[in-house]
Amino acid sequence: MSAVSALSAKFFHDEAAAFEKLESIVWPQGPVCPHCGGMGRITRVKGGRIGLRRCGDCKKQFTATVKTVFESSHVKLHLWLQAAHLLCSSKKGMSSHQIHRTLGVTYKTAWFMTHRLREAMRDGSLAPMGGAGGIVEIDETFIGNDRSIKPEGVKKGRGYAHKHKVLSLVDRETKQKRSMVVDDLSAKTLTPILRENIAKEARVMTDEAGQYGKLGKDFAEHGFVRHGQGEYGRGEVHTNTIEGAFSIFKRGMKGVYQHCGKQHLHRYLAEFDFRYNNRVALGVNDVMRADAALEGDQGQEADLPLGLTRNRQPKPNQR
Ligand SMILES: [Zn+2]
Repeated sequence: MSAVSALSAKFFHDEAAAFEKLESIVWPQGPVCPHCGGMGRITRVKGGRIGLRRCGDCKKQFTATVKTVFESSHVKLHLWLQAAHLLCSSKKGMSSHQIHRTLGVTYKTAWFMTHRLREAMRDGSLAPMGGAGGIVEIDETFIGNDRSIKPEGVKKGRGYAHKHKVLSLVDRETKQKRSMVVDDLSAKTLTPILRENIAKEARVMTDEAGQYGKLGKDFAEHGFVRHGQGEYGRGEVHTNTIEGAFSIFKRGMKGVYQHCGKQHLHRYLAEFDFRYNNRVALGVNDVMRADAALEGDQGQEADLPLGLTRNRQPKPNQR
């Protein structure tokens, strides 16, 4: 598997090299003090642990892991980098059990690492999708069993009541996907979420489900396909992009993540969104072609998920 051969890079095995790698990502212009933002008087701490620096301005010590997901962990950084790589490079993701076996850390540690990495993959961007009149596809899917729902309280009629409900949006122009766990699929629940996440000027595409019936009032245009009548799309009116993304998600959840509680589902969604968004960002439109590109061209520079370090900003000075 190409993911394994890519693990031959030195920073996956050597702690000093791992710090050099992380430093080159979080400090492209040279070390920055995470406490005061100072850059001018930073020195290595002689005899200190690997990567330890000291700021001459505020006298505090730090490493490049501060404010990244790798901060305050007893796990070696090179193992973190392996875990991050494995989680991001495998198409369907990787379970805590696989990380546990591959890295030789305890299962509990592997579980903690993968969840922390998934947390880091959550896209904090709140800009509405479909600005400038772009097309946003909206669809929902069902997964697993929501044990918080009691069988007797459930209305009959749809076979999905006991499952977790996932709402996803795909901006067809930017190729970005955004997913969330929702309690139910009523228009009352979904409409505020859609208004919050999609620009008014967007053109939205859905299937014919009733909860989407009045979206034409909230957005510039609402096109829908009649799946019930065997229709799969008319020109721009289709939901094929999001359905393709759901099929990757479902295959991944089935094969890799056997049991997933509702309290963790949002992290798995974030992981799949992250991989989807970063893969398509490679400039390859077609999901299948993108997979091939990832497997065939894993340059070492591309192996680390840069998004994991995106929140790294120096603290503003206290007034
Ligand atoms: Zn400082």
